[in-house]
Amino acid sequence: MIKGSCLCHKITYIITGEIGEIIHCHCETCRKAHGAAFSSVASVKDDDFKVSGEEWLSSFESSAGKQRYFCRQCGTQIYAKRDGTEHIILRLGSLDDDPSSHDGGHIWLEDKASWYDLDANTPRRNRGS
Ligand SMILES: [Zn+2]
Ligand SMILES: [Zn+2]
Repeated sequence: MIKGSCLCHKITYIITGEIGEIIHCHCETCRKAHGAAFSSVASVKDDDFKVSGEEWLSSFESSAGKQRYFCRQCGTQIYAKRDGTEHIILRLGSLDDDPSSHDGGHIWLEDKASWYDLDANTPRRNRGS
């Protein structure tokens, strides 16, 4: 079991299954939502994800059919969800435990912040999964 929480701890969650490969997304909406150069995410099956303190979750539809869920007290981004999918996209910065997953690389580099340089050895990949 893997645990996570928001900054103020009103929201906690547990993950009972596997966490998918770790992806670092540089798209503009991730940069804005997270206030950071990129967001590190991974998919988790709906059935494996249990949230406590759900009443503190707020959401924003950042693109059509995609909601970003965050704590309405402290602002921590917890997960995103696309309509019609059976998994959530976990925001790995909210984890308290090790995800025991592997690094799948960086996506949306065409949207990358000009002030952030990726090291030449950083794994990169095309998006599409
Ligand atoms: Zn919070
Ligand atoms: Zn993104």
